[in-house]
Amino acid sequence: MQNFIFHNPVKILFGKGQIAKIPQEVPQAAKILITYGGGSIKKNGVYDQVKAALQDFTVLEFGGIEPNPRLETLMQAVKLARQENIDFLLAVGGGSVLDGTKFIAAAIPFQGDPWDILAKKASVTAAVPLGAVLTLPATGSEMNSTAVVTKEETREKLYFSSPLVFPKFSVLDPEATFSLPPKQISNGIVDAFTHTVEQYLTYPADAPLQDRMAESILQTLIEEGPKTIAHPTDYTARANVMWCATMALNGLIGAGVPQDWATHMIGHELTALHGLDRGQTLAVVLPSVLEIKRDTKREKLLQYAKRVWGITQGDEEQIITEAIARTRYFFESVGVPTRMSAYDVSHETIPAISDRLKNRGMVALGEKQDITPQVVEEILTLSI
Ligand code: NAP
Repeated sequence: MQNFIFHNPVKILFGKGQIAKIPQEVPQAAKILITYGGGSIKKNGVYDQVKAALQDFTVLEFGGIEPNPRLETLMQAVKLARQENIDFLLAVGGGSVLDGTKFIAAAIPFQGDPWDILAKKASVTAAVPLGAVLTLPATGSEMNSTAVVTKEETREKLYFSSPLVFPKFSVLDPEATFSLPPKQISNGIVDAFTHTVEQYLTYPADAPLQDRMAESILQTLIEEGPKTIAHPTDYTARANVMWCATMALNGLIGAGVPQDWATHMIGHELTALHGLDRGQTLAVVLPSVLEIKRDTKREKLLQYAKRVWGITQGDEEQIITEAIARTRYFFESVGVPTRMSAYDVSHETIPAISDRLKNRGMVALGEKQDITPQVVEEILTLSI
């Protein structure tokens, strides 16, 4: 096992009715800016619950944070927060609202152009504290210190991490997810699954606990994911998928083990160029990454096949082929197509994607840094 430091200070308030406990978690007399997206929280009752919980506080609002949050929009919130001397941010929504709010938190006190936090990895030395009410299980943003922001002008989608933007608390009420459109719950399942795979399906690292935690998350998603689609108000299924998504990217399963992330990096470019949802890009790219890297990932692919899918018949090549096929089938079965052609994306985009990665210095992706631009092209060719 590799050395690691693990520190995750996010307090989780999980379950029905937990939004009402928010007043106990925010500083007394705080001036709070509630941030949200395109209005789903106003239709499903979450907004009303949050407003009721905060009735004794001074509250301002900033709505309109879009999926794949844009710098240009977030800077309007930064302006408002600076003008109003906001001292606590409450993000209410999915990963986009949470990520956008982490950026706002870091940008408010930042001296200079806040885009430098992402583009130049400028260090974050202060941030306004934030909390979150999660409405979409997928990204793990509710319990991590990372945020992904898109600059519309240049179509760049970049991320930053800082311990200062860990939420102070996150409310996870599975009932807040009942109103999700099927597409979003499907994307969320693929997202959580892929986050887990990116930290698990690499090479053996003498870390059986991390392996078994990752395998538990994958198996739980395979068992519970389809139920959340078939029965949108099945509280138990939603609760289990929600907790899986959080556990998939709160740092625990990734501690002390090699990590891949090539699927995400390639997927970001598909989103940037073609507007695919992140879950869709991951479903397209992951099976091909596993196929192209089947030799370097051999031992873990065999372990994955046996422990997650229960595949024991056949020789090693057949077992690996079957495991990759079942992964693809699982994504398709929850409603996320796994071929670029299903999204009307043609092979012509392939050189553009490898060029964009090259221009950003991403020429050695994967746990072995052996996914070069040429290998990216092979992966995408297999994904058509
Ligand atoms: P999202 O972009 O936050 O939300 C997608 C859509 O779902 C929005 O239109 C939103 O509508 C709607 N929605 C959310 N909750 C809903 C509910 N309960 N009922 C009905 N509709 C609901 O999706 P996401 O997948 O959670 O977040 C994606 C972003 O996270 C991307 O930018 C991605 O790059 C980033 N990400 C971050 C991390 C991380 O570690 N921080 C990891 C992976 C990905 P409204 O706008 O109306 O609310």
